[in-house]
Amino acid sequence: MTDEKAIAYIKKCLDAGKMREAIDASRITKVPLSKEELKFCIQKYLDAGWMPKAIEGSKAACIDLPQDVLIKYVNKYLEEGKIYSAVDASKLIGMPLPKEKIAITGKECLLKGKLTSGLEAYKLIKESPPEEELIACASVCFKEGKLSHGLEAYKLINKAPPEDELVTCGNFCFNIGQITPGLEAYALAKRTPTKELLRACGETCLLEKRTDDARKSFVAAQKIDETKNKDIEVREISFNDLSAGINKSWKSPGPKVCSDCHNDTEMKDRFFILSRCPENVDEEERLDTLMKKQHGVMQFCVEMDVFGDGRGLICSAVCAKCGSQNVVLGADDWTYMEIKRR
Ligand SMILES: [Zn+2]
Repeated sequence: MTDEKAIAYIKKCLDAGKMREAIDASRITKVPLSKEELKFCIQKYLDAGWMPKAIEGSKAACIDLPQDVLIKYVNKYLEEGKIYSAVDASKLIGMPLPKEKIAITGKECLLKGKLTSGLEAYKLIKESPPEEELIACASVCFKEGKLSHGLEAYKLINKAPPEDELVTCGNFCFNIGQITPGLEAYALAKRTPTKELLRACGETCLLEKRTDDARKSFVAAQKIDETKNKDIEVREISFNDLSAGINKSWKSPGPKVCSDCHNDTEMKDRFFILSRCPENVDEEERLDTLMKKQHGVMQFCVEMDVFGDGRGLICSAVCAKCGSQNVVLGADDWTYMEIKRR
């Protein structure tokens, strides 16, 4: 073996944590391997969480590795969220980790937004992480644009993530040119990103030569212009005309209660046909304002696919006793989307 080949081989062994093999090779080939170099490698193994390799190597190199240094590293692994390294190392040096310490580490990881490490810690002690820790973790993840981790945390507690946090996450993603999670975050929040944001995202993608993502961003920006131009049209329709054109099994929503006089028996229904259904919160808000300003309707609900052609149906009611338009509609067995008063 030439010196060059021997040096490369020894380096390869050291990098892989095989110190004994490196030392043997050095002895046979007479390529020197200094104590300093070996010490440095052991340090590297410890930093990487490879305590078994560090201990094995220190024995082969006859380098003393004191217990207090090893204990220091177990704590360091815990701080860094290297849960498995910490547990393995603690067993190796005969200092098992108390359950409480792992739980604290799990909590700290979650609070810092390190979902995987936090979950690992709780899994090791066979406990479920508390809901508030998962929510806090998700919040950090969303702020840092880590959509999938944030969603995973909420999935574990079976809840929907808050819309504003999703939007924060989406904005972060767009700012760093991550169009796909950005769009997903906005879609989950039922919001529409501004076309400026989408275009800026596209520019970032272009700078990084990710042309597919850039195209996706610009197409999404273009779409916003198109949908904005098509406002929802609202037309009032009588019950008779409505009955003629609608499925026979359709029923008007009920029960209804007047918010002003609490009458719940004498109601006059009002119906409106929408040229299309609102697709996001902004459109819902615009529809809400339009219903109030043009038709004086304070409370209504929208049935999304009653005609089967994309049009929507608004149901609202007027109190026959006091004339109030402020009538609350509600029914459990009826599919509709209620637009809450804002
Ligand atoms: Zn009334």
